[in-house]
Amino acid sequence: MLGLMQDWPLLIHRIIDHAAKQHGQRQVISRSIEGPMHSISYGEIRQRSMKVAQRLSRDGIRLGDRVATLAWNTWRHLECWYGIAGLGAIYHTVNPRLFEEQIIYIVNHAEDRILFLDLTFVPMIEKIAARIPTVERFIVLTDSAHLPATSLKNAVAYEDWLAECDGDFRWANFDENTAAGLCYTSGTTGNPKGVVYSHRSNVLHAMMLIPKEAFGLSPGDVVMPVVPLFHANSWSLAFSGPMSGSTMVMPGAKLDGASVYDILETQKVSVTAAVPTVWLGLLAYLEQTGKPLSHLKRVFIGGSACPRAMTEKFERNYGVNVIHAWGMTEMSPVGSVCFVKPELGELRDDALYDLKMKQGYAPFMVEMKIANDKGDELPWDGKTFGRLKVKGPAVAKSYFRGEGGQILDEDGWFDTGDVATIDAYGYMQITDRAKDVIKSGGEWISSIDLENLALGHPDVAEAAVIGVAHPKWDERPLLIIVPKPNANPDKDSLLAFMQGKIAKWWMPDDVVFVPDIPHTATGKIQKMELRERFKEYRFPAA
Ligand code: ADP
Repeated sequence: MLGLMQDWPLLIHRIIDHAAKQHGQRQVISRSIEGPMHSISYGEIRQRSMKVAQRLSRDGIRLGDRVATLAWNTWRHLECWYGIAGLGAIYHTVNPRLFEEQIIYIVNHAEDRILFLDLTFVPMIEKIAARIPTVERFIVLTDSAHLPATSLKNAVAYEDWLAECDGDFRWANFDENTAAGLCYTSGTTGNPKGVVYSHRSNVLHAMMLIPKEAFGLSPGDVVMPVVPLFHANSWSLAFSGPMSGSTMVMPGAKLDGASVYDILETQKVSVTAAVPTVWLGLLAYLEQTGKPLSHLKRVFIGGSACPRAMTEKFERNYGVNVIHAWGMTEMSPVGSVCFVKPELGELRDDALYDLKMKQGYAPFMVEMKIANDKGDELPWDGKTFGRLKVKGPAVAKSYFRGEGGQILDEDGWFDTGDVATIDAYGYMQITDRAKDVIKSGGEWISSIDLENLALGHPDVAEAAVIGVAHPKWDERPLLIIVPKPNANPDKDSLLAFMQGKIAKWWMPDDVVFVPDIPHTATGKIQKMELRERFKEYRFPAA
């Protein structure tokens, strides 16, 4: 017997409908690309996204067509998402930090028909326009007063394009499993692969993250996704923000410490989220200026491991609760959040920070396990590490156009490519990406742990650890350090600092100092490139 409940498909536009009905006056406040701050209500956002849908359909966009966005976090980008998806077309977020060749590859692979782009990216797209022939029209996210002269095909200012419609439109109706969004993973090896989100997966994922044990969003919150919409669905905040009725703050193109500080303070942001590099910038700014954080309550940090020193600074010096989270593009993207369960509520100081170093436990709708290379499940003892595998309604089952073949094992688990431990309380901790772990004498050394420790040294701005070939041990760790401005740390002081805090055989064999460390388009340390840079390097004693 089937249940006798209504058929109410989980479609993304229902989120903005709800926000407009229940929280119609609540604002979305953006730092515009043109410069000034801009404010608009959820009610108006909904009207304008309906116009986007109507106008796109007049341009011939249909169910299943791909429409690309190359844009920072602003209200216009948000409207585009809801408008594109509300028509049954697919928003394809293009990460502007990718190399030109990768952008060309993914736009062609997706066969995007329209490209919405911010003013910032007009020169870059003009350069490659001839090589992305599927794009019929370029819509610049600005008004006619700011539209530069451009060679882009059928270019138009977004506001003019939108004004050609009256918004008298009904959202399309379709199955909740219809594709809604497309995001390519940067793919450290091979070509980028497209992850295709459905309406259902995006709605469920947003619902998963609203509760207190995750983002904890409610109408009283002011939430600012610093994490870009083009980085794995902005960790769902473009959906969970409106769904929860929170005020939203969109930081636009300026993500340096001073600009992030300014918008956090002036807009009274209570909750925010981004990768560690953004917070390194903010904390450096706070240290230089001695300014306080007056309104911020919670900061979500993920994308790469949140260094312990970062958590301690936020919590001890600024009274901000740091919540570590982990995920990946293939998981929509959140897979775990480090909320403190009541049985651990007594933990204080170092013991609490030890817990907060972990990436957290899986909320409802994510299943996880660790397994050895044979596929046997490993115990949750906080020590045994293995390959981290996941399942859930917002986890990919294959890539766009079948790229990469079969990606689930025979029991339906997706291998994340990460190596992790899980403790008796369910808290998972990433040891490393499987390809970055250092294999020394048959044992594994976690590059993340070493980097974390080195970052606690007062003279260190950034740290990376890679395995370098060693005649006896196979591989040994090399510590690569970017010193803080005006600081001059040396090898001995660094090693002395690390001594006693890790097993002896984990100690790096050497320390080198460099002016910068390369990052990927999503802010991760580019280990492959570092290994390439140091391929001629030999340890002094080896
Ligand atoms: P890419 O940057 O390759 O496009 P993602 O942004 O999807 O892909 O990156 C996912 C990977 O980032 C995870 O598999 C994991 O290795 C790493 N990662 C994400 N969050 C964390 C975290 N909190 N701690 C450590 N590693 C993390």
